[in-house]
Amino acid sequence: MSLTQMSEKMVDIPSNHLNIMGYVDRSEVNGPGCRAVVWVQGCRRECPGCFNTASWPFAINQLISVDELVERILSESENEGVTFSGGEPFWQATALAEVARRVKAAGKNVMSFSGFTLTELRSPTAPTNAQVLLDQLDILIDGPYLESQAIHDPTSPVSSKNQRVNIFSPALSDRITWASDQIEVHVLKDGRRIVTGYRVQDYLNCCPA
Ligand code: SF4
Repeated sequence: MSLTQMSEKMVDIPSNHLNIMGYVDRSEVNGPGCRAVVWVQGCRRECPGCFNTASWPFAINQLISVDELVERILSESENEGVTFSGGEPFWQATALAEVARRVKAAGKNVMSFSGFTLTELRSPTAPTNAQVLLDQLDILIDGPYLESQAIHDPTSPVSSKNQRVNIFSPALSDRITWASDQIEVHVLKDGRRIVTGYRVQDYLNCCPA
């Protein structure tokens, strides 16, 4: 059984739903401008030094429908788009592609992180519907976090040297300006906190933004 088959059989997510670890309405350290961020639940890569080990299990964490997620993303009219992080977004490529399609139809842009390389995502062994999600993306940050190649630079949009910024929409080519070496603290209505930003170990972050 391939890694793809194994991982996709590890959890039963209802159709048109996502299993997510977290969500913030507005972030300025996870892509161009101000944007929503979705952290999906589940990653098999187990990169040493991963910033978000709690995202590894595939067990159901928070289920959210595609309809509800799209509504939440578009409710923040000042946001210019959404970023998918994790966990590994491409294990839930089918639902995320639909979210992306509808967000883009509303004039927003979509970016994703992935522990897979772009070459792997375009290969026959890629997760189901990886290409469908790729077709919707404006930007892809690809490649796993490699601790041995870590970058400690407040101007870098990636956190290890092997990672690549793939810009599929030329209009965003001069927008790779977010400072990933920043920290945001989001206080949710129920009192929980989400801390995101490069080098925020043990908090919510992935494939680090
Ligand atoms: S850094 Fe990203 S790809 Fe690597 S284990 Fe963590 S969540 Fe997975």
